[in-house]
Amino acid sequence: MHINLKNKNILVTGASRGIGHAIAKHLGHAGAQVAMHYRSSRVATEELAASIGNNSFAIQADLGKKDEVMNLFSKVLSRMSHIDVLVNNAGIAIKSPIQKKDSDWTDDFQETIETNLVSVAVLSKMAVNHFMQGDGGIIINISSRAAFRGETSDYVAYAASKGGIVSLTKTIAKEFGKQGITAFNIAPGFVLTDMAQQFIDEFGEDFVKNQLSLNEITKPDDLGPLIVLLASGLAKHATGSTIDINAGSYMH
Ligand code: NAP
Repeated sequence: MHINLKNKNILVTGASRGIGHAIAKHLGHAGAQVAMHYRSSRVATEELAASIGNNSFAIQADLGKKDEVMNLFSKVLSRMSHIDVLVNNAGIAIKSPIQKKDSDWTDDFQETIETNLVSVAVLSKMAVNHFMQGDGGIIINISSRAAFRGETSDYVAYAASKGGIVSLTKTIAKEFGKQGITAFNIAPGFVLTDMAQQFIDEFGEDFVKNQLSLNEITKPDDLGPLIVLLASGLAKHATGSTIDINAGSYMH
């Protein structure tokens, strides 16, 4: 089946690198107009937007800053007539051992929750209000295997932020389905990006591979087709669900 997203307007956060870059690329190749958000990687994001076409564009915001999160949605709407799909992908993983000074550990925890969870909640809230003024819409939130399996103790905040995303997304799916709004969690395992590289550098590639059922580590492009399917609306009856994409490393 060939999926055509020609008339879809989509906002992807963290589209400059890694998973978000691949998602934005796949959505664009399927015909969508994509607002590609970045924090600091302007050149890479503008190059991707130009290579995709479809009037796609790059747009900047630091999602760790409340005012910038709140402005992002309206900045996108000043360049697109409306938004059909929101993909909350941007995120951080700060290594923060429990031996760290209490105040530093707390700063790390707060920064992680602000960036990974509060920004997702605020953008989702704005999207729900926007979708209710039209014919509905789709929210796709990038959570993590860590929400279900737990994470190493250095990444407590990361796992907690991803668990928060799961219940946030289920609640949106439960409460707003009758208004034509659907919401999905994606729970990747290790995906070969800058973020995962810090784990691989520390523990080695074999440590990661030994956890997998497949014989290769997931690449960002492996997520693209699934996101295209969800963005098409063809999988709307799966609303509220979490889709694992972890090479069979964790099944729940
Ligand atoms: P990545 O390669 O580190 O890229 C992170 C992306 O988020 C970049 O586009 C970055 O923008 C953006 N970003 C970071 N901090 C930001 C901030 N304060 N404000 C706005 N944007 C910010 O990460 P990734 O591996 O692709 O991860 C993407 C998502 O998948 C994350 O939510 C992550 O938790 C999740 N995930 C990843 C893995 C994995 O193994 N890689 C596994 C499970 C879940 P700039 O480039 O402009 O800084």
